[in-house]
Amino acid sequence: MINGDSPTSDRQARADWIKVFLSNSYCKAEEKQQWSYYGRTNAKIMLDDGVTRSIEVLGSTYDLKSLHFHWGSPNNAGSEHILDGIHYDCEAHFVHKNERNGVAVIAVLYEKNAGINKAFNPIVDALPEIVYKGKRVSLPSQLHLQQLLTQDSENFYHYNGSLTTPECDETVSWFILKGINYIGKTQMAPFYKLRTVTETESHENCNLVNNYRLTQELNGRIVFSPK
Ligand SMILES: [Zn+2]
Repeated sequence: MINGDSPTSDRQARADWIKVFLSNSYCKAEEKQQWSYYGRTNAKIMLDDGVTRSIEVLGSTYDLKSLHFHWGSPNNAGSEHILDGIHYDCEAHFVHKNERNGVAVIAVLYEKNAGINKAFNPIVDALPEIVYKGKRVSLPSQLHLQQLLTQDSENFYHYNGSLTTPECDETVSWFILKGINYIGKTQMAPFYKLRTVTETESHENCNLVNNYRLTQELNGRIVFSPK
């Protein structure tokens, strides 16, 4: 849950104090870029291409380690954050760590629409290969992070909270980008087909859907925004 440890009256001062920026290499797509896709409960993409992608939070550098998604089901939205009362269809978490194992997460919200967001193509193309738990595959083409973020990546809400996945309960600096990105309806569909079981286990009623936790609603919480 959200840890509101700073008074709201300090909002502006705190907003000025928090300086976050993406390093120049953050969105770099290296030729040898290799992303591996694990069939875990949140479809995690580990970054292992040797490129350092970092953000700076209060003078501490956090390197991007992995990226994963939360989604709903064909008739249910699946974002973990609700912005202005809207529960969006999908949410990406860009997970960063600093030297002291502190965690900073950039969250991006996506709305389903009739278009195609090309940035999702490498991910969506790989989904049929990792339908079952424990599967892993390299993405078939380069992932362009810039297009998975929003155009103004410095326009965000910030609060300190915890990770929403059970394996991590350490304190996390959250940055929820205010701009809403999108994912095509047809691109979202393969996410709903992932299974929570291995290939040899029973497949009945085991689609990986609604893998979100609504513990991070921003309404009424103490949050900070630099803009
Ligand atoms: Zn997450």
